[in-house]
Amino acid sequence: MSLKEYARKRDFEQTPEPAPGRAAPAAEVSHFYVQRHDATRLHYDFRLEIDGTLKSWAIPKGPTLDPAPKRLAAMVEDHPLEYGEFEGNIPKGNYGGGSVMLWDRGTFELLGDLPALKQIERGDLKFRLDGEKLKGEFAIVLMKGRGKGNEWLLLKKRDEFATPGWDVEEYAFSVKTGRTQEEIAKDLPAKTAAKSAAPEAPAKRKTAASKSKKKVAIRRSPPK
Ligand code: MN
Repeated sequence: MSLKEYARKRDFEQTPEPAPGRAAPAAEVSHFYVQRHDATRLHYDFRLEIDGTLKSWAIPKGPTLDPAPKRLAAMVEDHPLEYGEFEGNIPKGNYGGGSVMLWDRGTFELLGDLPALKQIERGDLKFRLDGEKLKGEFAIVLMKGRGKGNEWLLLKKRDEFATPGWDVEEYAFSVKTGRTQEEIAKDLPAKTAAKSAAPEAPAKRKTAASKSKKKVAIRRSPPK
């Protein structure tokens, strides 16, 4: 997979985003990342580690555990693996200028018999996520004959993690630093105790924390 388009769009002297590195060795587990990106329009960038790069889709309304809505996901250029953990501010005037939150991360398991790239080629990729916020089976399906040919739909399958009414904006905090989008935009320090019920925590965060007990219990590593 080529990272030329990724590199062409960016000036690495100006943006803190990672420059493409050397090709990564084949991973034993595949990672996924979701970034909440407050650029010209707020959107979520959904990234799956496939074939040594991050296959990426921009999702205006964000992913959901609700199996009813189909979320438009525009496929964008591959990103380097190092991009996965990126959180920070892309300076104004640069490509994607705005704040980037690491909204979710974890591993995924490919479903079905075909390799991931073949599934992407046919326009129907199935996988099971094990993230801090997103869990369970999903499919991302190309809408053939639509637009520029990069419009996909992200679908949550009905399983034990499916949650009708699940609202992505109730989980608008970083899994890396506990910060809100505004705190990232202001370059405020990481809130390492973000998951504890701090009295000054906004109501929405408390809601998110109480709803995600399961998530805390299975967390493999503490937030940095
Ligand atoms: Mn983006």
